Amino acid sequence: MSMETTAWTQLHSVMTAQQQRRPLARATLRRIAAFARPHRAGITRFVVLGIVTALLAVATPVLAGRVVDAIVAGHDSGRVVRLSLLIAAVAVAEAGLGILVRRLSATLGEGLILDLRTAVFDHVQRMPVAFFTRTRTGALVSRLNNDVIGAQRAFASTLSGVVTNVVTLVLTLAVMLALSWQITLLALVLLPVFVLPARRMGSRMARMQREAAELNAAMGTRMTERFSAPGATLVKLFGRPGEESAQFAARAGQVRDIGVRTATAQSVFITALTLVSALALALVYGLGGWFALRGTLEAGAVVSLSLLLTRLYAPLTSLAGARVEVMSALVSFERVFEVLDLEPLIAEKPDAVAVPEGPVAIEFDDVRFAYPAADKVSLASLEEVAALDVRGGAEVLHGVSFRAAPGETVALVGSSGAGKSTIAQLLPRLYDTDSGAVRVGGIDVRDLSATSLRATVGMVTQDGHLFHDTVRANLLLARPEADDEALWEALGRARLDEVVRSLPDGLDTVVGERGYRLSGGERQRMTIARLLLARQRVVILDEATAHLDNTSEAAVQEALAEALHDRTAVVIAHRLSTVRAADQILVVEAGRIVERGTHDQLLAARGRYAELYRTQFAGKDGDTVPVA
Ligand code: ADP
Repeated sequence: MSMETTAWTQLHSVMTAQQQRRPLARATLRRIAAFARPHRAGITRFVVLGIVTALLAVATPVLAGRVVDAIVAGHDSGRVVRLSLLIAAVAVAEAGLGILVRRLSATLGEGLILDLRTAVFDHVQRMPVAFFTRTRTGALVSRLNNDVIGAQRAFASTLSGVVTNVVTLVLTLAVMLALSWQITLLALVLLPVFVLPARRMGSRMARMQREAAELNAAMGTRMTERFSAPGATLVKLFGRPGEESAQFAARAGQVRDIGVRTATAQSVFITALTLVSALALALVYGLGGWFALRGTLEAGAVVSLSLLLTRLYAPLTSLAGARVEVMSALVSFERVFEVLDLEPLIAEKPDAVAVPEGPVAIEFDDVRFAYPAADKVSLASLEEVAALDVRGGAEVLHGVSFRAAPGETVALVGSSGAGKSTIAQLLPRLYDTDSGAVRVGGIDVRDLSATSLRATVGMVTQDGHLFHDTVRANLLLARPEADDEALWEALGRARLDEVVRSLPDGLDTVVGERGYRLSGGERQRMTIARLLLARQRVVILDEATAHLDNTSEAAVQEALAEALHDRTAVVIAHRLSTVRAADQILVVEAGRIVERGTHDQLLAARGRYAELYRTQFAGKDGDTVPVA
């Protein structure tokens, strides 16, 4: 894709996303309130402190006016000293309170971040695999980081801004009216100049904010993707660092542009407000001075009024700004709620049961399945596409039925794309069937509790994913309470103990991201060790297609034999030895089981299996059984 096209797609996606998302401010506010509810006590304390702060803020201008009056009266220097000491005391109290209020608002805000973050994390964890195959990791992580922080910042500053400012505003106005209602009213004439542009500015800033968040996420995604080991390898192999940099620069450039636009808009807004307040100040001096000369107003009152005016416009400015912040906060909250609102397609039933004790049979009963449509499992903004595909995938399994008795091994063979992995993924309920049923231990997997299903069905995949952590931590995932002895036993049975012993720190050696420091065969044996630790009674095994060297191959074979021993197993088979050892071979073609039987039976039938055998298996494993 050329750079222009990429940029255009992004811009387009940003614009469509905006058109689609109608602000549901009220509903969003209600949900924010729900998140704020546990922090009620803190909020109350905050409001009380806010009122005290506001009272102190009005005191200083009034005291200053009294000082001027005492000076004008020309006697009683003691009064001047007493008043200025009082002003000093107020200043100290204000400073102390300021810190207290700031601390309180931070506590509230950070508490909210914590709640939101854990809620999103918990929720995302419960999403089906389909969700993760579609979304971009970077976009998701950005939701957890940037938007949650955005929501918190706006929440905290809105809270401190709005509460303190409203109280200050009311008190200041009351005192000003008492000093001179004429001047106060005149000063207020300029008020609409504040409010009207603030309204328009609010929605504009919110738009820019949303755009900036999406552009930032796009940039982050690109980094996480390109800097993952497989991504980086791909870039190196195809060697287009120049183009990669150019594309990244284009994205980063967009982030810069929106940053400049936001900053400019903000500064125009603030400058305009400052100017209006300066003009109002001139009005107070002029009019107040004229009243004072005519003797209808004390000189001190003019000073108090002008000081109060600056305190009047400050909260007004920040209240107008608060509107902008509330809008941005709503955007951040909406982006977070959007993720929380995604229904996990696969949920546990309230009356879910456990798999019965003892050996388990597995069964597919006329299973039909299509991969779910994008709009059911994902969000356009997380996939970074303009609109989600609403079409469901085409049906890939067309009535698959088979049964594996307890302890039996079923081998799935067939050409690539036939549906073998899909069958395998339905068993641990990574997806749900559209019709028919998948049963484990005689019970429909949809009626089983997630915990019990996980404890029963294990899966060994080809790539054997490992976390960037120690060998020990990667193994303990399967059984957290296992001691070292149990770990070494599992490693031994998985034919991996010698490899781990030769690592610099043994069990404590950190295997790199995705286990890149181990070979393919070693990674697969690690997952087998995990399976042995977890002691799952059913195992799904995807045999590696990659050619392993002879020692590794032999070790994997032995480990697999351990893994299959005494277990009910479904194996996506690529090795003749596995196929021959299977109790039942299912030949899968285009989403259907076209043949079934044992190796010898199927060879004798001279059908699809015999053909597959000639093209895929014969001559491998050093096995040259002549074609029947
Ligand atoms: P096999 O394991 O036999 O190679 P699969 O079960 O992986 O085959 O694939 C069966 C069909 O399902 C293929 O046509 C494939 O394109 C499709 N398919 C696989 N995974 C997905 C997915 N996540 N979303 C949509 N279609 C998929």
